[in-house]
Amino acid sequence: KKRTPGEPEFHQAVYEVAESVIPFILENPKYQQAGIIQRMTEPDRTVIFRVNWEDDAGNIRVNRGYRVQFNNSIGPYKGGLRFHPSVNLSILKFLGFEQTFKNSLTTLPMGAGKGGSDFNPKGKSDREVMRFCQAFMTELYHHIGANTDVPAGDIGVGAREISYMFGQYKRLAHEFTGVLTGKALEFGGSLIRTEATGYGNAFFMEEMLKHHGDSIAGKTCVVSGSGNVATYCTQKINHLGGKVVTMSDSSGFIYDPDGIDAEKLAFIIELKTVKRGRIAEYAEKYGCEFHAGKRPWEVKCDLAFPCATQNELDADDAKALVANGCKAVSEGANMPTTVEAIHVLQAAKLLYGPGKAANAGGVAVSGLEMSQNSLRMSWTEEDLEQKLKDIMTGIHAQCAKHGDDDGYMNYVKGANIAGFIKVADAMLAYGVA
Ligand code: NDP
Repeated sequence: KKRTPGEPEFHQAVYEVAESVIPFILENPKYQQAGIIQRMTEPDRTVIFRVNWEDDAGNIRVNRGYRVQFNNSIGPYKGGLRFHPSVNLSILKFLGFEQTFKNSLTTLPMGAGKGGSDFNPKGKSDREVMRFCQAFMTELYHHIGANTDVPAGDIGVGAREISYMFGQYKRLAHEFTGVLTGKALEFGGSLIRTEATGYGNAFFMEEMLKHHGDSIAGKTCVVSGSGNVATYCTQKINHLGGKVVTMSDSSGFIYDPDGIDAEKLAFIIELKTVKRGRIAEYAEKYGCEFHAGKRPWEVKCDLAFPCATQNELDADDAKALVANGCKAVSEGANMPTTVEAIHVLQAAKLLYGPGKAANAGGVAVSGLEMSQNSLRMSWTEEDLEQKLKDIMTGIHAQCAKHGDDDGYMNYVKGANIAGFIKVADAMLAYGVA
């Protein structure tokens, strides 16, 4: 904390890992002697830069851009770009640190990074977003490359933003390479990438339940968020026979006891990705409740899927889930559950799938996009969905291998230790490097 003052989210992410990894390191002194955890908590490098762009009224605007290159022990730096006014170094360092473990769990050759800007795409015209993305990439392109660092999307960075940035990279670098993932299909994107994080989260929940003799079918589910992860998580829950009764955005949540079926979900996807509207419009259209300024954890459910943002589920929310009989929580978002809330869920013996395991499907399919780009070929949708499913099953198995806590399956411990070993062994092999 002394070396990194004012970085509470980063400290929180490190604390959560340290709780389970430090006891493991004490049992395996080779990692302690080599200072592995100290090295893993310090990014390889951080680039911070000014981004000037011109708005539609001709004013010059200034934002701050970042890329945190955390660890490339097992592959090129890999992780998303976030455009949101809350973006700062602490948030990007927590995300980059978590990415180290997540990418390791996928078993694919990907290191860890994260980046973004405090630019807010909300309320901006397409042209303004384009000019910002081009200005952002004009600096970022010096630091990335298909074998160096391969960014992707995150909050506020979807297909539109990736396309503008890829176009600018191609123009500046004078080459066509797989330098970003989440690209459109016409220029090197992968089928299933858009759906991958949400689908993967539903698959991970299904695996946790299967391991405990249960399944998603017939369960009432509460989902937060209404962006990329939330919508495709809802879609896969529907495929698996569950019923989703809530979705949300930063203005509140909707409660639809009849369930958000395929047709209603298509309305939400259109609302959020094309019209860029608010979730309250769903309540008006379908005549259901809208709870302004609230999060959905007070709604009675069997399963919960936080898919919006960090620290959106606190200890009181966790107590409400437990009191309402919720059986399991699987995180589509990164670090949506506070440390205190994790302790409440685990004390009540709920199954709790941390984001670094449960939402790894997105980066896994990004890894498959990189492979397809290198091979200059495309796999089919069926192939890719099967690969995604297999990867999520494999991640669950790795967590289960290391997660036993006196008969309780502690997925946090399992994910942290399994993710740690591969990266730590690579770092040991390199010596003091
Ligand atoms: P989107 O931008 O598509 O959607 C974000 C959703 O979360 C929106 O509904 C947004 O509401 C809501 N939200 C964002 N910030 C806040 C906030 N401060 N308070 C309340 N609601 C908020 O992002 P994604 O779906 O891509 O990302 C969601 C989460 O999943 C993030 O934690 C991200 O890091 C994580 N993730 C994403 C991956 C991906 O492949 N996209 C991969 C792995 C993890 P509003 O529109 O009102 O802002």
